[in-house]
Amino acid sequence: MNSILFLILLLGVYYYIYQNFYDRFEEKYHYYFYIFVGVYIVILYIYHFEYEFFYKVLKNIYDVNNTPLYTFNSMNSNAQLFSSQYQNGVGDPFRGFNIKETLLQKQNGRCYACSNFIMNNDLESTKLQYKRDLRNGGQNNIENIGLVCNQCHEFQ
Ligand SMILES: [Zn+2]
Repeated sequence: MNSILFLILLLGVYYYIYQNFYDRFEEKYHYYFYIFVGVYIVILYIYHFEYEFFYKVLKNIYDVNNTPLYTFNSMNSNAQLFSSQYQNGVGDPFRGFNIKETLLQKQNGRCYACSNFIMNNDLESTKLQYKRDLRNGGQNNIENIGLVCNQCHEFQ
């Protein structure tokens, strides 16, 4: 109720100023005042009659302000996002897909750089490498990825 009294007081003050400083008053001030009063009444209405809506708006602003941009580092959040889309592996197109095994088959069991054979036991220590660097226009897809043995990776 105080806010309505404040509005009435404000109207009174405005009227008083308008009456006493009529000569210095420009018409555009009226429009500013109308807009102000209009916005004030709308906010008042929402606050008193649409409290739930008002609460949700404020809560959303509060939540957004207090949510960190990244709850995990971006790699983890991507993994989380990915796994959340394929719960329990159902419908996961990459289920059972192992990029190192796939590349090894594609390269006939040889290292991409030195062509030495890679044993299955050494698969763990092999490294993935872009054939053409991303900064030089290489694409981030499997066609542009080569499997290299650990020695090749270290001596580059
Ligand atoms: Zn090699």
